[in-house]
Amino acid sequence: MPDAPPDDSPREITGLVTRSTGSWYDVRTDSGEDVRARIRGKFRLEAETIDETNPLAVGDRVTLQMQEDETGLVTAIAPRENQLSRRAAGHRARSEHVIVANVDRAWCVQSTFQPKLNPGFVDRMLIAAEASHIPAGLILNKSDLLEGKPRAQDALAFWSELYEGLGYPVLFTSAETGEGVEAFRQRLAGAVSVVSGPSGVGKSSLLNAIEPDLGLRVSEVSEKTNKGRHTTTFATLLEAAGGWVADTPGIREFGIWGMAPEELGGYFVEFRPFLGECRYPNCTHDHEPGCAIQDAVDEESITPERYGSYLNILESVRKEYRADEEADWRRRDVRPDVWEEPEE
Ligand code: GDP
Ligand code: ZN
Repeated sequence: MPDAPPDDSPREITGLVTRSTGSWYDVRTDSGEDVRARIRGKFRLEAETIDETNPLAVGDRVTLQMQEDETGLVTAIAPRENQLSRRAAGHRARSEHVIVANVDRAWCVQSTFQPKLNPGFVDRMLIAAEASHIPAGLILNKSDLLEGKPRAQDALAFWSELYEGLGYPVLFTSAETGEGVEAFRQRLAGAVSVVSGPSGVGKSSLLNAIEPDLGLRVSEVSEKTNKGRHTTTFATLLEAAGGWVADTPGIREFGIWGMAPEELGGYFVEFRPFLGECRYPNCTHDHEPGCAIQDAVDEESITPERYGSYLNILESVRKEYRADEEADWRRRDVRPDVWEEPEE
C-alpha cells in the first residue's frame, strides 16, 4: 500500500466555475460542494497579454488549492474545448470578453408567433456558434399557437426541415401545454448549454417548465424591453435538469465578432463542400465571377433563404471589419509604438 499523503499537504480539488464576479468565483467541486475561490495574479497577467479581459470564465474546469479559511485558490485552468465571447466594452473594445467556456450546445430559441420566427436571428446565432466551435440547435416554442393554422404549420415545417437538413437538431416546444418540454429537458441533462433568443419567445417560461425552482421572471411580450434589464455582464450557470444553463446577460444579441468577410462562408455548413472551388481564393461569394457558391445557389444545392441570409450577414461583417481597421489606424496615429527616421 502506498503511504498516505502527509496531513499538512495542501488539499487540491477540481471543479467547475459556476459564477464569476470579477474577483471571486463560485466553484462546484466534483464532490458537489460549492467553494468560493480566488485566482493567482499570474493568470490575470496572462489573460491580458492574450487580449482577454477575464482570465477565468464560467464553464472553466479548474484545480483549486484549499486554503485554511476553506476558500480555494485556483492553481490551474483546464484547456478549453470552446468559448463564447463578446467584444469587451469601452477602451478595450477590441479585446475579448469570454462569457462561457466549454459549452456543449447553444440553443437558439424562437417562437412560432408573438414574436414570429426570425430566420435572420437564427442564422446569426448559428454562425456565431460555428465560429466558436459550439454545436448549436433550434427550439421552436409556442407550438400551441399553431393550432388550427395550417399555413403557419407549413411555414414552420419548412424551416424546421431546412435546419434539420443542415444538421442542427430542432425541437418544437410549448411552455403552455408542455409539448416537447421533456425532450428539451433530456437535451440539457448533464450538459452545459447556452439558451439564447429574442425577448419574448419564452426562454424563461421554458426553463421554469423544466426546473420550477429557477423561478425566472416571465413577462408579457409588450412589457419586454432590452434596455436596462441587466446591469452586470457576469454570467452565471443555472442548475437545470441535472445540467447547467448559462445565463448570459452580455449577449442578448449574439454578435458576430472579429470576423473577416472572406471567413464568413466557412461558417455556413452547406457552403463548405464548394468553398475551394471559387476562382478567387478570397472570394466573398456575392459579386465575384466564377463563384462556386453562386453556382450552387443556381443549382439549388444551397437554398435562396440561407444565401440571402449570408448576404445580409456579410454586409454587417464588412461594416464592422472596416470600422475595426480604421480604429487600428487611428490608434497608430495617436500613439505610435515604434518609429524610425525615414531612410535617406
Ligand atoms: P423570454 O423573454 O424569452 O424569457 O420570454 P418569457 O418566458 O418571459 O415569455 C414571454 C411571454 O410569452 C409570456 O407572456 C409567456 O406567458 C408567453 N409564453 C411563453 N411560452 C409560451 C408558450 O409556449 N405558448 C404560449 N402561448 N405563450 C408562451
Ligand atoms: Zn465564391
